[in-house]
Amino acid sequence: MSAKRKPRPFSRVALIGIGLIGSSIARGIKKHKLSHEVAISTRRRTTLNTARKLGLGSSYHLKAAQAVKNADLVILCAPLGANKALAQEIAPHLKPGAIVSDVGSCKESVIKDVGPHLPEGVHLVPAHPIAGTEHSGPEAGFAALFEDRWCVLTPADGIDAKAVKAVEGFWRKLGSRVEIMDAAHHDQVLAITSHLPHLISYTIVDTATDLERDLQKEVVRYSAGGFREFTRIAASDPTMWRDVFLSNRDAVLEILGRFTEDLTALQRAIRRGDGELLHDRFTRTRAIRREVIDAKQAGTEPWRNRR
Ligand code: NAP
Repeated sequence: MSAKRKPRPFSRVALIGIGLIGSSIARGIKKHKLSHEVAISTRRRTTLNTARKLGLGSSYHLKAAQAVKNADLVILCAPLGANKALAQEIAPHLKPGAIVSDVGSCKESVIKDVGPHLPEGVHLVPAHPIAGTEHSGPEAGFAALFEDRWCVLTPADGIDAKAVKAVEGFWRKLGSRVEIMDAAHHDQVLAITSHLPHLISYTIVDTATDLERDLQKEVVRYSAGGFREFTRIAASDPTMWRDVFLSNRDAVLEILGRFTEDLTALQRAIRRGDGELLHDRFTRTRAIRREVIDAKQAGTEPWRNRR
């Protein structure tokens, strides 16, 4: 490092995967001057060229092993299903004391897939920025994505406290609020707040596409009546979401069981004409919306509506 360089929290950050999340992190690092170097790696040359054209990093690599050399922070930003192979590939090339983190939407699977491959003296601090859009790829990212959003860290017991602090500081500088949580608890919470809503959206849109052609046209024409938001969520990346459901199977199946019971209760109320039960349920849920808005998690900021 040159003697004249002003200190930054990291000297080299390696981003493995440069889609929506990786490229938003790259932009945030640049904006907030969080690292001297940003090494970018992705498996396809076309994606790497796009990242280069966008000027997202300081070096570009088709091999993750090259990107992580001398990195003090490595962040895995590929779909969850790629983590195990990536961990095996980078492990021999990590410098002692390096921090390995990630952005995956499930956390127990990251600890299971990545942890066992890391050498002694390398610290695993898994992270999940609870922020995103339905868009994918390096062009979809923007630095403000993480502002006022939660980022959950799930370090296992005994992980170096300094490493956890460094990752916490990194996300705070990107504008996030940070919470430290047990990985299994994270997966249960996200099963209900994120994974189940995605599954329901995929199902509703799929059911609609099964309707005959004329009706489908009507569905699109009148989609503002609630369906539109489901189509937005159901446009989310299929690879990412396949991996989420395969990685968080137990928690999703548990919550799906409860949901099915509640849905059946509403179905029965409709069949029996039990308006009181319907009204009670809908009154209760209305209050939850108020809480989400008060917690500034409703996505009503102008920039969030631009895509
Ligand atoms: P994305 O836009 O689809 O980008 C994925 C990146 O990973 C691309 O650079 C892709 O490279 C690379 N990649 C794909 N398969 C790979 C493989 N088998 N091995 C190595 N690299 C591979 O995805 P994203 O939305 O940024 O999501 C990335 C991670 O963030 C996921 O783990 C997801 O759970 C998590 N996350 C997503 C959101 C969201 O809303 N999207 C929110 C929070 C967390 P190529 O183009 O070169 O194939």
